[in-house]
Amino acid sequence: MSYQHRFTDKSNCEYPIGKVVCVGRNYADHAKELNNPIPDQPILFIKPQTALSAFEEAISTPVNRGECHHELELAVLIGEPLTQVSDSQAAMAISGVGLALDLTLRELQTSLKEKKHPWERAKAFDGACPVSAFINPKGVDLTQLSLELVINDELRQQGTTADMLFPVNTLISEISESFTLLPGDIVLTGTPAGVGALKPEDKLQARLLDKNGVLLLEVESQVEGRS
Ligand code: ZN
Repeated sequence: MSYQHRFTDKSNCEYPIGKVVCVGRNYADHAKELNNPIPDQPILFIKPQTALSAFEEAISTPVNRGECHHELELAVLIGEPLTQVSDSQAAMAISGVGLALDLTLRELQTSLKEKKHPWERAKAFDGACPVSAFINPKGVDLTQLSLELVINDELRQQGTTADMLFPVNTLISEISESFTLLPGDIVLTGTPAGVGALKPEDKLQARLLDKNGVLLLEVESQVEGRS
């Protein structure tokens, strides 16, 4: 596995590679587009470290396993061990903010859901979690960020973290009630509406902006199918 955490300012990242904790249905508009009910507590699942890849390198998607959907999400890098922490303790433990794709084999996920099975086969495959370089979270208001995903020059996903059902600090606090987060772990915070299938050769641009529209982070990449 070649993935390493990176920072946009090229500073060295001393954090080890860990697990990725993901949150399902954290934006009401996305829950609605997949006809899912709004959860009363965060829906959690984990991608293993073998799912990680560098977003700016090619996005490798499995072919012949049905549609592979993009879910653009705000990603946060955890900097301290967190067990049963409060929202404010969670806020202080965030050491990086970035963008990630929660790649999902949607048809497979649908059939797993029908059988009431876990989703890992659809969401934890190798390369299922492209992650950008991280920016320093200092001064970044995590409750007022805009996410945009452009595919082949068409805006496909757009959302604001103001619309999250559970804000980032609450999510981290909730996760830490169930299990410990360690330095180097990443939390993916859910996707806004607009998910859809990726195709080989698709060109992606993902952007993170602050509430004034100032660009904080931009990633460009391309999809490569693999068997
Ligand atoms: Zn997701």
